[in-house]
Order: sequence, then structure tokens, then C-alpha cells
Amino acid sequence: MLTDLDHIRLTDRPLIVCDVDDVVLQFAAPFEAFLQSRGHRLLPRSFKLTGNIVTGADESVIEAPAVKALIDDFFVEQERWQTPFADAVDSLHALGQDADLVFLTAMPPRHAEVRRRLLDQLTLIFPMIATEEAKGPMVAALQGERPLPVVFVDDMVHNLHSVGQHVPDCLLIYLPPPLEIFRFAPEPPQTVRRVSTWPEASELIRSHFAG
Ligand SMILES: [Mg+2]
Repeated sequence: MLTDLDHIRLTDRPLIVCDVDDVVLQFAAPFEAFLQSRGHRLLPRSFKLTGNIVTGADESVIEAPAVKALIDDFFVEQERWQTPFADAVDSLHALGQDADLVFLTAMPPRHAEVRRRLLDQLTLIFPMIATEEAKGPMVAALQGERPLPVVFVDDMVHNLHSVGQHVPDCLLIYLPPPLEIFRFAPEPPQTVRRVSTWPEASELIRSHFAG
């Protein structure tokens, strides 16, 4: 299943667990374009979608259930909208030479097959888990007792926090996209390394592996 750990087979190499939306594939920017195609608008006035998507001339706020439905429609159509960030694909291929790489993507499991297909089309054939479970316990279960370095890359502070709590040895990398709405994102804990590009992330990861 694409929604659990059972299909993941790790080798004797370091482990990189990597988020997908807004880390590998663009999310917020194409989601905004998707909203516009439906006659809506995203106002970057706080770090959330619900309450900031407005519609019509009077800019009335779209309620939570309708926002959820829009995100759902976007994921159904993701192959039409989502493209990778600069350097992401090349960097992941290069890192994948020396490490096991697993995508941990937070989305309703019903979208897992489309997400898998999109990653495959982009040659990102690394294993993937699509789940709405907390990421910390998932990374802990993946890493288990392996005496090998482990790295986690995400654009959401709460996910970095979760992994930091469950996998104390993990290198935590915060890679937020260069978007206005991320100005409102919470600050990551001090144990987290912040970078702005994949080449920077790769350098940190390689020096972590080198010990
Ligand atoms: Mg993300």
C-alpha cells in the first residue's frame, strides 16, 4: 500500500525522509493559480488557507468545508498543476546515489496513486508514503534501530517538531518555499537547520552523512 510502511525496503545506507508539497513539488503557487481558475483568490494575510480564500466581487470568505473540497479537487488534478522546484529533481537523484530516500507526503490516502504517478513521471521513483498521520512516529518506525544517519526535510514547522520529538538523532532541515505567505509561518525550533535551496540542503545532508 502507498499509505503505510510495509512496502518500504531500506538498504544499509543513510536515510533521507522528504516531504513533497512545497519542498519537491510546488504547492501554494499552483494552488493559487487553481483558485483563480475557479474565480477565487488567496489573500496572504496569515499562515493558513482556511479564512484566506475569498470569492466574488465582495471578496466573501470561503468556509472550511468548501476549502477542503477545493484542496481535494486540486489533488485530483495535481498532474495538471504541480511542477518541481528548481534543482529538486537533480538534487534528489544525486543524494539517492548514497542514501535511501523516502517521500513522506501528507495527503488523504485516496490521492496516493495520482501522487505516485506524478512523481514517477518526473523520474522521482523513490518509495513514497501518503498519510495524514503525524510524521514523527512514521520516521521513527522507518529508522527503527538502524545505526545510520537519518535526515528529515519539510516546509512545515509542526512536522519538523514532530520528527525532532520522535527521532532525536535526526538532522532536521526546514526548506520553506520563497512565497509571501511563508512570512507568516511559525519559527522553527533552534535544533532545526533552515535553508532556502536544494543545493544548500544537499550540502548540509552530505556533511551530516560524513559525520
Ligand atoms: Mg509540505
